[in-house]
Amino acid sequence: MASYYLEEEPKNGVHIVHCDSCSKLPDFYYRIYLGEYGGSASAIKKAQTHRPQVMGCIECCEINIESKSCTHIRHAS
Ligand SMILES: [Zn+2]
Repeated sequence: MASYYLEEEPKNGVHIVHCDSCSKLPDFYYRIYLGEYGGSASAIKKAQTHRPQVMGCIECCEINIESKSCTHIRHAS
């Protein structure tokens, strides 16, 4: 399980979903806590109850949309 967040500020009208280990996770004030989920697909469904236009972050969610958990292991270095 991982904690997921929704970006408050839309990019091109779309709000981005991140897991808590993502390097692109926005600052505390600019994100909405979605809850603990086993995968980004569930988190995105929850996010859609907050905002109509949401998508998974390409860094931490999009490639793992079918996976059981957030597997973001790459960090900017
Ligand atoms: Zn992300």
